[in-house]
Amino acid sequence: MTYQISSIKAFTDNYIWALHNNTHALVVDPGDAKPVVAFLKAHQLTLDCILITHHHFDHTGGIAALTAAFPKAKVYGPNNPTITGINYTLQDSDTLHIKAFDITFTILATPGHTLDHIVYVHEDFLFCGDTLFSGGCGRMFEGTPDVFHTSLQKLAALPSRTKVYCTHEYTQANLAFALSVDGTNSELNRYSKWVNAQRQQNKITLPSTIGKEREINPFLRCHSNAIRKTIFENYSENSALTTQIGTFAKLRELKDNF
Ligand SMILES: [Zn+2]
Repeated sequence: MTYQISSIKAFTDNYIWALHNNTHALVVDPGDAKPVVAFLKAHQLTLDCILITHHHFDHTGGIAALTAAFPKAKVYGPNNPTITGINYTLQDSDTLHIKAFDITFTILATPGHTLDHIVYVHEDFLFCGDTLFSGGCGRMFEGTPDVFHTSLQKLAALPSRTKVYCTHEYTQANLAFALSVDGTNSELNRYSKWVNAQRQQNKITLPSTIGKEREINPFLRCHSNAIRKTIFENYSENSALTTQIGTFAKLRELKDNF
């Protein structure tokens, strides 16, 4: 591999991902320019391009300062005119080739967290913004349960080995909720111990993989009888048992109040 992917910490729990070689870099969702500029300086890198997943300020706030510092940097993102600074808009099933690293992304539209949300899929990894977190998913600010569930199913269908680069360190809190609805899942229990140990040492828990998330993430496991049974027994929710979308809606509501 001629490039690597590094995390840049921003705000309290955001990760800005930098894909880079020895000379050039691409960054994903730079909500804050400062830590990105520091990273680029420390590694003597030129910023080639910026990928944006959705309109939230903690993902877009650094665009202006970064493009001022690197005027040749191209900015790719969803077709949402409220985001200032995007020069190339992308939509579902577009492909994006990045010359500096000779890599190609396929774009998937994943509405749910927001309606404009897109993700960048490479054959080995995925930049998924706030759509999918390890052990969880984004809050449903703009979508509906059926729309969000469909988006997550698209990600669940990617190859197991696909590395998942989410934009927040939410794993530990997500797993506390996951255990409350899927406590008999042995892989979830194992993973939770590892995550707790990582966080105790203030270490990152990402990237995850699609294979791992299929095993432990309740929002990708709405078909699970164990999860449906817990919801039924603890919350007397018959409606959640009838469809996967019903289960998803109930899980999202429970997590919001967890
Ligand atoms: Zn967001």
